[in-house]
Amino acid sequence: MANGDELITLKNIASHCKEYGFIYPSSEIYDGLSATYDYGPNGSELKNNIKDYWWKAMVRMNENIVGIDAAIFMHPTTWKASGHVDAFNDPLIDNKDSKKRYRADVLIEDQIAKIQGKIDKEVSKAAKRFGDAFDQEQFLNTNERVLKYQSQISEIEEKLKASMGSGNLKAMKDLIDELEIADPVSGSRNWTDVRQFNLMFSTELGSVADESGKIYLRPETAQGIFVNYLNVQKTSRMKLPFGIAQIGKAFRNEIIARQFIFRMREFEQMEMQFFIQPGSEKEWYEHWKEKRMRWHKALGLGDDRYRFHDHLNLAHYANAACDIEFNFPMGFKELEGIHSRTNFDLGSHEKFSGKKLQYFDNNTNESYVPYVLETSIGLDRMFLAVMSAAYQEEKLEDGSERTVLKIPPVLAPNKVAVLPLVDKDGLPEKALKIMDDIKFDFNAIYEAKDSIGKRYRRQDAIGTPYCVTIDNETMEDDSVTIRDRDTMQQERVSIAELKDRLRDKTDLNKLLRSI
Ligand code: ATP
Repeated sequence: MANGDELITLKNIASHCKEYGFIYPSSEIYDGLSATYDYGPNGSELKNNIKDYWWKAMVRMNENIVGIDAAIFMHPTTWKASGHVDAFNDPLIDNKDSKKRYRADVLIEDQIAKIQGKIDKEVSKAAKRFGDAFDQEQFLNTNERVLKYQSQISEIEEKLKASMGSGNLKAMKDLIDELEIADPVSGSRNWTDVRQFNLMFSTELGSVADESGKIYLRPETAQGIFVNYLNVQKTSRMKLPFGIAQIGKAFRNEIIARQFIFRMREFEQMEMQFFIQPGSEKEWYEHWKEKRMRWHKALGLGDDRYRFHDHLNLAHYANAACDIEFNFPMGFKELEGIHSRTNFDLGSHEKFSGKKLQYFDNNTNESYVPYVLETSIGLDRMFLAVMSAAYQEEKLEDGSERTVLKIPPVLAPNKVAVLPLVDKDGLPEKALKIMDDIKFDFNAIYEAKDSIGKRYRRQDAIGTPYCVTIDNETMEDDSVTIRDRDTMQQERVSIAELKDRLRDKTDLNKLLRSI
C-alpha cells in the first residue's frame, strides 16, 4: 500500500476538512473572514474529544490540578500588569512592491531554516554515501561545509536575539537587508522600515466609547488563572505545588494569518499554570516537558513528528522556555509552549492591584509569591496536528484509491458506523435497534443509503474506526461484521460482544492509563 504522505499539503487537508464537515471558512456566504474558521459537525466532535483528552489528563489524573472557566473580558489593568499593553507586539515589515506584510522576525527565522535545510541535505547525502558506517555526530562536528552553515546560523541567531531583546527595529531591518531576504511571493527586496504592532483586539465596555471604557479581548487564557490564584487556592484548599487548568478562547490580531487553522485571529487555548516554590522551577520545567511529550506521543501520531525547540528570545516573563514542535505539512512548527514564568505575573498583579497574592508555606513558615510553570497548547493547532498525521491518500492492492483519516480512535468524531447492508428486509430496523443500544457508550452514526463500498469509503474519509454491517445472517444468528478502518479487515462477531470489541481501541481511560 503506497502512502503519499510527503505530497500532502495544507490545501489538501483544508479542502478535505471542508468537504467532510470538519471546518468551514467563517461566514462563508459573505466570502469568509480572514483567519477565522467554524467547526462543523465532525470538527466539533473531534475538537471536543481533544479537549476531553487534555482535560482528563490534566485535571482528573492529577489530584493537585483543578480547572476553572474564566471570562474572556477582564479588567483592563490586567493587561497593563501582564505586560501585554506595552510588550505584546510583533515587528512587522511591508514589501513596497508586492504590498504584502510580514513578521520581520519570521522572515529571518525562515532564512535560518533555509540554511538548516542545507545542513540536512548534506547529512542525508553523506548518510547515503557512508551507509552503515555513517556517524552523524562526527559528521556534524567535522564537515567543513556543515560547520560553515552552522556558524552562519549562530551569527544570524545572535543578531536576531539582540535586536528582539532590545527592541532595536533598525537592527532587524539591517539584518534583513544584509541577508538579502526577498519577499517570498514577489522576490522583491524593496522593504519598508520595521514597526511594532500590538496584537490585542480592543473594544468598549458599555455605552461609553472613550479610552476609559476600553477593554481587550484576552490574548491568552493564562491571566484568567493568575487573577484567580488566591480564590482557587483558598476555596479548593490547595497546597503548593498545585496547578490550575483552563480551556478557552483567545484573540490575537495576527499580522499574517495564513496556513489554515495554524494561525488564527480567534482560537482556543488549553493552558495549565503550575504554582511552585521559588527555586524548584528547573525541576518542574523538566517534569512538565517530559509529561507533556508523553501525552502527545501516547496518541501514536508518530514519535518522529515531535521535537523540542528551546526559545532564543525569552518573553518578558520567562526564565526558561521551549516549544514542542510538530512536523506539520509545512515543516516543524510550534504546537505547544512550556514556559518557566517565574513570579512575574503574580508579582505584577500584586503591584497593580495592591492585593497580596502570596502563599504561606507551613513547611518553611514563610510567605512568598509562588513561581509558575506553564504549559500552553493551541487546541486548533492540536487539531491540525491530528489531521496532518491522519490524512492519507492510499493506493490499494486492487489498484483503487482511498482517502482515509487515520485519526487516533479515541479522538475520532464517530467511533462506529452502523450500516444495514441493504435498505430493506428488516435490516434497517435491526440496525437501528443496535444503534439505540450502543449510542449510550459510543458516538455512533447510522447510514443506509448507497452501496456498502461507498459507505465504507465515506466513513474512512471521516475517520470512523469501525463499521458494523447488518446483513441477512444477522437476522438468523445475531452476528454482524465489524470492519477495521486501518486494516480494512472484516470479522464476524456476535452482537453480544460488540461493545467490548468497539471499546478495544476507542477507550480513553485505557489511553490515560498508558501515560
Ligand atoms: P507563535 O510563535 O506561533 O505566534 P506564540 O509563541 O505566540 O506562538 P504562545 O503565546 O506561547 O504562542 O501560545 C501558546 C499556544 O497557543 C501556541 O503554542 C499555539 O499552539 C497557540 N497559538 C498561539 N497563537 C495562535 C494563533 N494565532 N492561532 C492558533 N493557535 C495559536
